[in-house]
Amino acid sequence: MSLVSGRDLLAAAGAGGRAVGAFNFSNLEFLQAIVAAADARQTPAFLATSESAIEYAGLESIVAMTRATAETTKVPLCLHLDHGKDLALIRRCVEAGYTSVMIDASSLPFEENLRQTRAVVQMAHAAGVSVEAELGRLVGREDGVVVAEREALFVDPAEAARFVAETGIDSLAPAIGTAHGAFKFKGEPKLDFDRLGKVREATGGLPLVLHGASSVPQNLLDKCERYGLDVKGARGVPEPDLVRAIAMGVSKVNVDTDLRLAFAAEVRHVFSEQPKDFDPRHYLGRARDAVRELVEQKMELFGLAK
Ligand SMILES: [Zn+2]
Repeated sequence: MSLVSGRDLLAAAGAGGRAVGAFNFSNLEFLQAIVAAADARQTPAFLATSESAIEYAGLESIVAMTRATAETTKVPLCLHLDHGKDLALIRRCVEAGYTSVMIDASSLPFEENLRQTRAVVQMAHAAGVSVEAELGRLVGREDGVVVAEREALFVDPAEAARFVAETGIDSLAPAIGTAHGAFKFKGEPKLDFDRLGKVREATGGLPLVLHGASSVPQNLLDKCERYGLDVKGARGVPEPDLVRAIAMGVSKVNVDTDLRLAFAAEVRHVFSEQPKDFDPRHYLGRARDAVRELVEQKMELFGLAK
């Protein structure tokens, strides 16, 4: 079916206890894997691209292949810009057919974040496109987003209340201790659930989003190691923490790193088993299957899979 807005997708997830997965892609294989998983489990999903994914694949190509792939299923899907920082690019995404955009001005002072976010909401809503924004700072790195640990600053619930009221956003990503990438945590990961509860209360039931929510599961790390992918020290958000956050009102959970690990590990697996095979349909096809399987597992964990 045609792409739906992020707001409609989050509404479809219902209130409380379940979350829609947002899965990043930058090529055809990841996109097909996510859509196939959504179709197999009859589960809605955000198809997310970062600014660097757009730089890699091209905006028009992403929109065209996403629309075509979404037509292969009746499950509602949304094309989402993840961490939009360039206001001109956000506008281009809205005009090109994205159905949800994130404005990430979280590294700017609060008032400037508020000003930019409000401007994006006005522009995007006029086109029926929903808007996600971020408050506080995530620790870690992802696609050009680099924040030193010492600069990390969690969301302030009172600021969140004012931010939501004055911007009109459709969803909010509050920084509560997750981080991007495979090497998010030096010690034990610790999410600030107390703060999450306060933000939930202060923002009147607005859908909340958890970024940096890959769990980097041990079986995936084992597979990476078996086939020579060096990811020593990788660590994610434990699955029970994700389930708890979802129970507390998080209704969109972002996953990128785990999918990359699954894809890379399977490509290496094929190469190690079949040294004479250089047909990309073979190694990319099997890696696509690995991503699809993982996305289905995530959908189950997030409580929406059928
Ligand atoms: Zn993120």
